[in-house]
Amino acid sequence: MIDLLVVGGGPAGLATALHAARAGLDVQVWEPRAAPVDKACGEGLMPTAVAALAELGVDPAGADLTGIRYVAGARSASAPFRSGLGRGVRRTTLHAALHSAALAAAVPVRPQRFSTLTQDEESVTVDGVRARYVVGADGLHSAVRAAAGLGARPAGLRRYGQRRHARVAPWTDRVEVHWGPSAEAYVTPLGSGEVGVALLTTRRAPFAHLLTEFPELSERLAGAQMSPTLGAGPMLQRTRARTAGRVLLVGDAAGYVDALTGEGVALALAQAREAVAACAAGDPVSYEGAWRRVSRRYRLLTHALVLPTQLPAARNRLVPLAAAFPRVFAGAVDALGG
Ligand SMILES: Cc1cc2nc3c(=O)[nH]c(=O)nc-3n(C[C@H](O)[C@H](O)[C@H](O)COP(=O)(O)OP(=O)(O)OC[C@H]3O[C@@H](n4cnc5c(N)ncnc54)[C@H](O)[C@@H]3O)c2cc1C
Repeated sequence: MIDLLVVGGGPAGLATALHAARAGLDVQVWEPRAAPVDKACGEGLMPTAVAALAELGVDPAGADLTGIRYVAGARSASAPFRSGLGRGVRRTTLHAALHSAALAAAVPVRPQRFSTLTQDEESVTVDGVRARYVVGADGLHSAVRAAAGLGARPAGLRRYGQRRHARVAPWTDRVEVHWGPSAEAYVTPLGSGEVGVALLTTRRAPFAHLLTEFPELSERLAGAQMSPTLGAGPMLQRTRARTAGRVLLVGDAAGYVDALTGEGVALALAQAREAVAACAAGDPVSYEGAWRRVSRRYRLLTHALVLPTQLPAARNRLVPLAAAFPRVFAGAVDALGG
């Protein structure tokens, strides 16, 4: 019997495996997709994510991010990260760095897909493999979450994300969030003549169509070579709890609100650390409180931002208000930074 089986080898799963290896646990990861795994993501790592990666000895190449700028037409509001630099990192670069670190730590990453689990008081059996604990890190549509009975009925807004890379020299060292009539465009400088553009919206329309909501941004991207579109969603995923017996959920599998604040990877890394601490202490139930603690501010801030901004009047006022109250905006950006 192994100590820990991690299902899903994205950022949450690989970070869990790295923490587990450090804690001396016998751990393996199941990830059916070949490295480096790509995903629809805004690719902005908040300063806390950069610090949590450094703690694991992972230092992916990218472009320094100094803060966040909200843009709506000619209006904008900008604030720095005060707690350090964030980083714009291509998703495949992040995955490759975490994957190499896992291999260097002698963690087996098996090309295997989870399908079923059963558990008793001492172990969990996953598709014939027995482990003392299982961490479900299999993303937004987690099969582990469903199998452990931890999913909750979907409710609320169904928002989707799409991402493309544009071969164009970055024009800023801040993450830009452009507010259009029905969508947000999240622009991240990635270095080496490239920016990532993630569009977040309730509308299911092609990327090029949604981009017309942002004339200034469209102009900057005009003529640039664009990568194919990757999509994800619906982003809002609810869970009724994060542990069931010896099964724990981390990252998007544990529940997700929205990508608007760009914190998914930072949260996944924090949850990975807490889940391993709970397993190493033989106290999986303690993870529930730790999960609440590390994700509370994200859940409150993201709900507070996403729900009201679906109303046109609130959308129109957001950037002028942020510009008019720079300290409040700076405080919010500071909170994101860590
Ligand atoms: C449009 C968009 C923009 C975003 N922008 C940002 C941003 O700028 N900054 C930020 O920090 N976060 C951002 N996020 C959030 C971030 O991408 C996620 O929070 C992060 O990827 C979570 O990592 P994860 O490891 O939990 O899930 P994933 O990265 O989804 O990894 C899950 C892994 O599990 C594997 N898997 C799935 N099913 C199975 C199975 N049955 N068996 C085994 N393995 C399985 C998958 O192949 C995958 O590799 C964004 C999200 C979206 C949708």
